[in-house]
Amino acid sequence: MKDIIIIGGGPGGYESAIRGAQLGASVCLIENDEIGGTCLNRGCIPTKALCRNAEIVEILKQADAFGIELETFSLNVAKIQSRKQGIVKSLVEGIYQLLEANKIEIIKGFGTLKDANTVLVKTIDGVMEVKGKNIILATGSVPSSISVPGADLPGIVTSNELLEFDHIPKSMIVIGGGVVAIEFAGIFSSFGTAVTLLVRSEIIKFVDSDITKRLVTTLKRKGMDIQTKLSFKKIEKTESGQFRVTVDSKKGEAVYEADMLLMASGRESYTQGLGLENLGIVKGKKGIDVNENYQTNVPNIYAIGDVNGLWMLAHVASHHGIHAVEHIMGHKAHINHVVVPSCVFVMPEVATVGLTEEQVLASGKPYETNKFMFAANGKALALGEGEGLVKVIACEDKIVGVHIMGPHASDLIHEAALAINKGMGVADIANAIHAHPTLSEAFVEAVLGLRNEAIHQMPKKKR
Ligand code: FAD
Repeated sequence: MKDIIIIGGGPGGYESAIRGAQLGASVCLIENDEIGGTCLNRGCIPTKALCRNAEIVEILKQADAFGIELETFSLNVAKIQSRKQGIVKSLVEGIYQLLEANKIEIIKGFGTLKDANTVLVKTIDGVMEVKGKNIILATGSVPSSISVPGADLPGIVTSNELLEFDHIPKSMIVIGGGVVAIEFAGIFSSFGTAVTLLVRSEIIKFVDSDITKRLVTTLKRKGMDIQTKLSFKKIEKTESGQFRVTVDSKKGEAVYEADMLLMASGRESYTQGLGLENLGIVKGKKGIDVNENYQTNVPNIYAIGDVNGLWMLAHVASHHGIHAVEHIMGHKAHINHVVVPSCVFVMPEVATVGLTEEQVLASGKPYETNKFMFAANGKALALGEGEGLVKVIACEDKIVGVHIMGPHASDLIHEAALAINKGMGVADIANAIHAHPTLSEAFVEAVLGLRNEAIHQMPKKKR
């Protein structure tokens, strides 16, 4: 009997497996497809490889401003794809080596719960039984769709299929306003596709509205058509093979047509065939119900990552898994699951952690905010990326939210996450010398500006 059986080898599952082995548990990892899950094979990594292509294209478009004379350039889709695949392959192989080095048993097959200590695994050789004291469900999520006539028309792609694109379409409709939708819209817009983003409510709703408003303006200026607050009526295919989407908006009915349609309206937790019903494991609207230790209503069965639907982010899946394993092994929880950074890999990048101004306002607590523009940051200008800002929100001198749009926002956000995690205030940040010239100086100045002490910001008028 294993100490821990894990079903699903994505970032939640494989990191749990390695942590379990580090703590001395005997671990078995069951994966039906490729180790690395959505993140490595169909999500974070392949999209970020393509985002880099998009960034390079954007830089090449500005070559003249850098004094580089370039006649023309073109995109080789086959090479773009093979670079992307190469990155995925090398990471997946690395994970296999780590699992092997940690003596984790990997079973390739589909896992189904039989009872609280038994998983049936359907492999190419037949069905086998694996016994364990504890089971971690880490089966992730799959793309979901909108319920509107025509949403299941052949040729409509999800992120899974779009990642395997073999040509760059002339035009594309993206349905959805979340991270996946924005990232693909950004990539293909940079590649020269005429992108129309159709959104039911607003884009990336979890981000402070000061940032989203600016992001919309920037993306529109770059040529993206963004339509929000829509009610979808139907999707059809025209005689010429285009997709036609009919929506209702404040301005009345509108019709949009494009060569390709990406359905990126969200993801749903994946539990098909898992056998939850065999044990009466409760699944709510978003995913499998769990307590603060990620235990389901069957206490030796845990559900972590996308399948519990709490946050659909790879780093959250890993942290859930590590917490669950440490709980199983009798360790005290040490991870703060409230301060979660989120990033949107578009140009300019967006990153956010902690509370938005809207949330602080709703709490009724007194607060202060300050915004520092990258246009006043030397490094950003040297990069040719002076667009965007760092916005800081503080309550009673403690930093509670930081929202960034600008170069390397996804890297900059972690100093803010640490500050919020540790309850730091203005003095803590001000007292840490930041190197010059760096993008990180924008964070320090944003924080100092809360006290009207930022050096490269105009003094605020006395309130
Ligand atoms: P998954 O990674 O989905 O892994 C679940 C695994 O379980 C799969 O390999 C599946 O084959 C396996 N499985 C399912 N059922 C069974 C079964 N019964 N038996 C055996 N195996 C089974 N997140 C970020 O943090 N940053 C990003 O930049 C980012 N970009 C993304 C881009 C895209 C296009 C997409 C789609 C997602 C992105 N995400 C990103 C989200 C991220 O990929 C997920 O949050 C993360 O992969 C969830 O990890 P997980 O371990 O919970 O599940």
